[in-house]
Amino acid sequence: MAGRPGGPTGRVSSTVSIRDVIASAVPAEAGTAMHELMTELYPVCRSITGDGYRTTMAILAKHLDLDIREVPSGTQVFDWTIPREWNIRDAYVANSRGERVIDFRASNLHVVSYSVPVDARMSLTELRKHLHTMPEHPDWIPYRTSYYADDWGFCLSHRQLEALPEGSYHVVIDSSLTSGQLAWGECLIEGASSDEVLVSAHACHPSLCNDNLSGVVLATFLAKALAGASLRYSYRFLFVPGTIGAIAWLAHNEDKVDRVKAGLVLTCVGDGGGFTYKRSRRGDAEVDRVMAYALATSDHPYELVDFSPYGYDERQYCSPGFNLPVGSLNRTPYTRFPEYHTSADDLDFVRPEHLAGSYALTLSALRVLEENDAFVNLNPKCEPQLGRRGLYGSLGGGKETAQSQLALLWVLNLSDGEHSLLDVAERSGLPFELLVDAANALLDVGLLARCEMESDAACDPAGPGGTHRWRKR
Ligand code: ZN
Repeated sequence: MAGRPGGPTGRVSSTVSIRDVIASAVPAEAGTAMHELMTELYPVCRSITGDGYRTTMAILAKHLDLDIREVPSGTQVFDWTIPREWNIRDAYVANSRGERVIDFRASNLHVVSYSVPVDARMSLTELRKHLHTMPEHPDWIPYRTSYYADDWGFCLSHRQLEALPEGSYHVVIDSSLTSGQLAWGECLIEGASSDEVLVSAHACHPSLCNDNLSGVVLATFLAKALAGASLRYSYRFLFVPGTIGAIAWLAHNEDKVDRVKAGLVLTCVGDGGGFTYKRSRRGDAEVDRVMAYALATSDHPYELVDFSPYGYDERQYCSPGFNLPVGSLNRTPYTRFPEYHTSADDLDFVRPEHLAGSYALTLSALRVLEENDAFVNLNPKCEPQLGRRGLYGSLGGGKETAQSQLALLWVLNLSDGEHSLLDVAERSGLPFELLVDAANALLDVGLLARCEMESDAACDPAGPGGTHRWRKR
C-alpha cells in the first residue's frame, strides 16, 4: 500500500454547519461544474487498473485531497486476486488497403477492456468471432470487458459491421498485461466523531457517463461541499474500480469498517428519470430511513426498493460478513435505460440539471443524517410551562409560529430516549429542520438532555439488523 504524502484532509476548525453548506450551495452551478468535470474525464480510457485509472485519480485530485492507494497484482483479497495491470496504447482493424475500419482512437469503447495483445491477419469470418454489436440499436457501440479471462475483441455499431466487406483484415491491439498495481482514491473529511459516512463510486468505465462518471462527479462535488465544514460525522469518499476495488478496500480496512454508520453507493445519477433508492441489506438502517425521508420531502418522483445481491458495490459492502448500512442511489436503474453500457450513455444523455438535482437531494439527506438526534424530556410529567421559559406564543400568531409551537410539543412528547428527531418528523409530519430548532430551544432552557446513538457493531454479522438504540448521555 502506498499513500500519497500529505495524508487525508485534516480536520479544520470551522463554524460552517451543514445547514450553512446547503444554504450557500447553488445546485445549478454545481450541476454545470459537475458536467464540465465529466467532460474532462470522458475521453480517458479507464479500466479496473492501468494508466487511465491513474489519470482519472489525478484529475479528481485537482478537486480533492485524494489519497491514492495501490495494491500489487497477485495480492489475495478475500476470495479474489488482484489482476494484472492492463494498459493500451492503440488498437485497430485495418482493411487490405491499410485503412482503419475500426479505430480505438475514434472511441475507446471499440476495444474489449482487458483485451490481450494481438497482431494478426484474418478473414472477416475469423474476425467476426471477436466482434460485438447491438443489432437492436444499430448505431450504438456496446461496452464489453474480459477482466478475468484471456481474450480479445472489438465492439462496433451494427451498421459498421454490416458495411464490412469480405476480405483479409489486419488486427492490432497494442496492449499489455503486466504485474502492476490496482489503484483507488480515498478522500477523508474529518468530523467531530470518528464514526464515518461512506460514499462510494466506481470509476473504472471508459467513455460512459451515467454509469459511471455521474457517480464520480457527484461524489467529488459532495466532498468539495463538505470539506471545511464543521461536521458531526467523518466522511470517507471512495473512488474504486467496480467490484475488485471495493473488495480490496474492504480487505484492507476490515478492522475499521465498524466505524461506518451510514453509506451510499452513487451511480446513474445524471439521467432524467426519477430517483431509485435501494435499501441496505439491513433494510431499516438509519441511512435507509434518512433517504426515504429526504425523497419523500423532495419534489422528485422516486421509488424505494429492497436490497438484492445484484447491482453495484453495495453487493460487497452488504455481503453478510460485513453487512454495512450502505444503500445505493440511482435515478433510472441500469436495467431500465437502454443506453446503459453503450456509446449512447454519453455527455448528452447526462444533463447538468439532473446532476444538480441529485446533488441537492443528496446534500439534504446528509443534513438529516448530520442533525438526527434523540433526547430525553427532563420534565416528562405533564407539559412543562413553556410560557414561563419564553417559548410559548412569544412570537404571536401566524402559521409559522403555530408550527414552531407544535414542533416544541412533539419533540417534548416523543423525547423519551426511544425516538429520534426523524421519528418525530415522520410521525408529526412537521419539517425536520423545525424539529431540530425546537430541540435546540428546549435544550437551551434545560428541558431536554441529548442521548447518544448506540449503534450495532457494523461488522458483526450475528448482530441484529441495523436498528439504532439511543442511550442517555
Ligand atoms: Zn457498469
